Amino acid sequence: MGKLYFIGAGPGDPELITVKGQRLIAEADVIIYAGSLVNPEILKYGRKDAEIYNSATMNLDEVLKVEIDALKAGKMVARVHTGDPAIYGAIQEQMDGLRAAGIKEDQFCVVPGVSSFLATAAALKQEYTLPSISQTVIITRMEGRTPVPPKEKLALLAAHQATMCIFLSVQAIDQVMATLKEGGYPGDTPVAIVARATWPDQRIFRGTIDTIADILHQAGVVRQAMIVVGKVLDTDYELSKLYDSKFTTMFRKGTDGE
Ligand code: SAH
Repeated sequence: MGKLYFIGAGPGDPELITVKGQRLIAEADVIIYAGSLVNPEILKYGRKDAEIYNSATMNLDEVLKVEIDALKAGKMVARVHTGDPAIYGAIQEQMDGLRAAGIKEDQFCVVPGVSSFLATAAALKQEYTLPSISQTVIITRMEGRTPVPPKEKLALLAAHQATMCIFLSVQAIDQVMATLKEGGYPGDTPVAIVARATWPDQRIFRGTIDTIADILHQAGVVRQAMIVVGKVLDTDYELSKLYDSKFTTMFRKGTDGE
């Protein structure tokens, strides 16, 4: 029986794939990778005789055909996506396409990966959830050719002033910042942008809602970047309860005496 694994390859650094993802790529008969973002270095984990496809030049039907034909021929397929496939990975339509073609549930599964929004936090040496500042992370994008539902417009999300990680939007930086301000973020709210987190040419830009667009324009063309917005980026915050000496947890007795 053929089996297909949707694998999160991580944000760029080939060592940031999971041990399981690497092993499955090493075993696969067929490797289909999203060549626009996945680091081709991960192909080195594969067998020399593996069939390789770059999905950047294929449409959904073509990808599904390769996947279904391979499964029917009893082959093992590694379908490699950037970051984690659950975030803007377009895997739902592939899984539904497999089901529609009669592929059984136990013939495909998903192996998670390190999403770029987490690699971005690591690059910034930043926690997104600071006590009393923000305990919520909003993952979103600016509307592009892919529409965003009306209730999720950036301006509405901005009203929460939670930490925001904005994907797929750096090309519209002026519009993104104007919309966030319109939605309620003060102009002096800190913003960080990480381009190509974990790649050798990673770059970090810091500013505020009012200044970051100019900073970015001066840098020239910036692509494959994550926009992070929120007060967590520079603020005084309360120390976490988890390590508070007064606080008892399941694993440690504190001076609160419980
Ligand atoms: N599934 C992927 C996201 C795919 S959408 C994930 O979990 O990361 C592509 C967008 O992800 C890019 O436009 C950019 O906003 C972000 N991205 C991908 N790789 C990145 C990286 N190395 N550094 C910063 N942002 C990245």
